[in-house]
Amino acid sequence: MSHDGRFAPSPTGELHLGNLRTALLAWLFARSQRARFLMRIEDLDVGRARERFVDSQLADLRALGLDWDGEPVRQSRRQALYAQALARLEREGLVYPCFCSRREIREAASAQHGEDAELVYPGTCARLAPSEARRRVDAGEEHALRLRAEGVVVTVSDRLHGAVTRRVDDIVLRRRDGAFAYNLAVVVDDAEQGIGEIVRGDDLLSSTPRQALLYDLLGLERPSWAHVPLVLGPDRARLAKRHGAVTLRELGERGLGPERVLSLLAASLGLAEEGEQVAPHDLLPRFDPMDLPREPWILDPGELAEAA
Ligand SMILES: [Zn+2]
Repeated sequence: MSHDGRFAPSPTGELHLGNLRTALLAWLFARSQRARFLMRIEDLDVGRARERFVDSQLADLRALGLDWDGEPVRQSRRQALYAQALARLEREGLVYPCFCSRREIREAASAQHGEDAELVYPGTCARLAPSEARRRVDAGEEHALRLRAEGVVVTVSDRLHGAVTRRVDDIVLRRRDGAFAYNLAVVVDDAEQGIGEIVRGDDLLSSTPRQALLYDLLGLERPSWAHVPLVLGPDRARLAKRHGAVTLRELGERGLGPERVLSLLAASLGLAEEGEQVAPHDLLPRFDPMDLPREPWILDPGELAEAA
């Protein structure tokens, strides 16, 4: 198993401190094991993706002193790979069309699990007769394609969280608009790029068993996962624009250059003293995944600006 790692931003905006901290961690995991570190642009959702953010995101990562191997891979140019994987699942009878609207799914899910339930697809269209499903597809009815997971329970092992067990629902593989779904693309990409260790925010932990199932069904070797704590604003919501100056550009305008930001991120991870000047490579000998904070970093961007 390789220890190769990656960072895979979606070009929907500028990276904020939470993204940058996760990128730094992913880099540290890979580089501390002398492994490759790859970059992937998750621009599958072409409508929302904006080219200028691709450039600004990569420039910000470089400004922090992070480097990566080879050219960044673009999801939007890899449709054939996702189609191949989908075709393989279809051949094995693991895919069915779903004609439900979002509203129908929300209503069915909340009837089953109560209002607070995460949106879990209740499998309505899995029970359609194959002839009926075929007739509606042939009639041109809009539909998504879903995985026939049959309620399988999957356990994954995470470096920081240990074993995580979850029933996998019939996830979307291809959306109604024809776009391949994130869960399918991320598995195909990570496997194809040879990623052995996936480091990302722990908001994605709950979807990991779904992806593990796809690895298994596609005959791919599962990677290992490390889900790292997020950065939260003073209101304990995930750090976002509304919390204030959170991007490298905004912080720079307030006198906090990339060196100061890196120092701040390193200190938040227990890898540097407050205010210590560091480069990413200085952090490698200090880095031990087991010593990482397990709690989110609560940050008030207003205080950062004052400190500058
Ligand atoms: Zn359905």
